[in-house]
Amino acid sequence: MPGLDDLYREVILDHYRSPRNQGELETPPAVRTEGFNPLCGDEVIVFVDIDDNNVITDIAIGGQGCSISQASASMMSAAIKGTSIGEARQFISAFKGLMSIHEGELGGDGSEAEMGIDADVADAGDIRLGDLEALKGVVKFPVRIKCATLSWNTLAQALDEAASDA
Ligand code: ZN
Repeated sequence: MPGLDDLYREVILDHYRSPRNQGELETPPAVRTEGFNPLCGDEVIVFVDIDDNNVITDIAIGGQGCSISQASASMMSAAIKGTSIGEARQFISAFKGLMSIHEGELGGDGSEAEMGIDADVADAGDIRLGDLEALKGVVKFPVRIKCATLSWNTLAQALDEAASDA
């Protein structure tokens, strides 16, 4: 991945090589959703267990694909495990904000100020994206943004399904 900072590349490769929460959960009670990114061939399967208090008590990730898609899924699983559905939705919008900063304004110098990183973090309230910040370099490569957001869209779908089941 030329063009990504070394630190970010290390974080991404660490999650890709040692994915967190990999596996399956029994359905039901877990909700299972699948996402596919035809541009790249990435596949992500998300399993979530949600308790009566709307807390995501467990999450498991399956599928296969490029390093960005799988690392993003791994980081997502670590970030949202144990959070409430409401907090998970905040993570989803914060991450999608991070990934959409450059849409329509490509060709800038890519500085943090220009990308609005500070404003976005502020908008996200108490959400700490942590390792996920490593993926912000991906916005420089628009074709890879769908790789990074695939697992998040798949999670959003799972939360919607869980809500409609309830
Ligand atoms: Zn991909």
